[in-house]
Amino acid sequence: MAELELSGVSKVYGAFNALRDVSLQIADGEFAVFVGPSGCGKSTLLRLIAGLDPVSGGRIAIGGNDMTARQAGQRPVAMVFQNYALYPHMSVFENIAFPLQMERRTKDDIKREVSRAAEIVQLSTRLQDRPAKLSGGQRQRVAIARAIVRKPGIFLMDEPLSNLDAALRMEMRAELTQLHRRLGSTMVYVTHDQLEAMTMADRIVVLNGGRVEQVGAPMELYHNPANLFVAGFIGSPPMNFAAARVDAVEGHAARLTVEGLGSFAVSYDGKEVSAGDAVTIGIRPEAMLPGAGEAGHLSFRMTPETVERLGLHTIVHAPVGAKTFTALFNGDPRMARGSALDVSVPLAQLHLFDRNGAGRSI
Ligand code: ATP
Repeated sequence: MAELELSGVSKVYGAFNALRDVSLQIADGEFAVFVGPSGCGKSTLLRLIAGLDPVSGGRIAIGGNDMTARQAGQRPVAMVFQNYALYPHMSVFENIAFPLQMERRTKDDIKREVSRAAEIVQLSTRLQDRPAKLSGGQRQRVAIARAIVRKPGIFLMDEPLSNLDAALRMEMRAELTQLHRRLGSTMVYVTHDQLEAMTMADRIVVLNGGRVEQVGAPMELYHNPANLFVAGFIGSPPMNFAAARVDAVEGHAARLTVEGLGSFAVSYDGKEVSAGDAVTIGIRPEAMLPGAGEAGHLSFRMTPETVERLGLHTIVHAPVGAKTFTALFNGDPRMARGSALDVSVPLAQLHLFDRNGAGRSI
């Protein structure tokens, strides 16, 4: 069993808190993705799990065993780095075999394990080549094969696709998902790319400023972001936000005045907002529909500043109140820069964030 448990993990560099009180449980066989903006602490957290850096506080357990004081080599993990860290003077075979050589395994043993790993990453025909002869994606697969031969309980991957071009990244995303399915191992994957997180993760851990903002399945974070940060980070193009005021709360309804959108009532079953509160309304670009809506919709008019036609979608940027909203429409609807456009949003798809930025369902 290779479940991972972090309890109150913190890391300080001098006076700087890189990680604060991180507690998490990642199940055996789960594909967990740490995502967040540059500097949020995701690589640091991975290095602490790998044992490459000591924790400043807290506890790390793998498979129920306390690993906090163990050296990197004594933890059941294998790390795959962003720059692949291959040895250029060694063949693919020798690169993959390297961890086994270090363990002084027999020649037959090494040959068998390398062949198995090379087959899994589909490099069986390239074992005699030097890394310089391989493409970026193939080099990344060598690095993964070198992790596979160690048979780790947990694979740790730090932005493994960030050196690849967009097309290859998409291909490798699918390959890594299949690899995870085939191996059934626990994987902890770090990226700053929310698209990678959304497409590969069983569960996403959103980090910001050294803290965990939310943990959940991709669609859970998309539909029910816990706060403004997660709402703005998950989803592309990002959610639109508008400042709003609560005019009244009566029973299960709240009347709001939203900057640039006027006043309207929403059904609201929480208790966290009261009349007079300054709140924020969130609208996903894809929740906006062309044309005036019927009852149950928020309808407004906006004048596009730019219209980007992508074939499958059309992206429109338009001023709404003090903000510029982004709308994502299906297909290629008729609309033009400078021509006013009716837009509607089902009220049930609005997001409401209270005065502290915490997300509430409407
Ligand atoms: P990126 O996506 O840019 O790699 P990250 O989320 O992985 O970002 P970390 O590399 O974990 O971020 O760094 C978190 C914070 O800790 C950053 O502000 C960084 O400058 C700081 N930090 C990391 N390592 C050290 C170190 N050895 N000494 C001092 N500060 C450090």
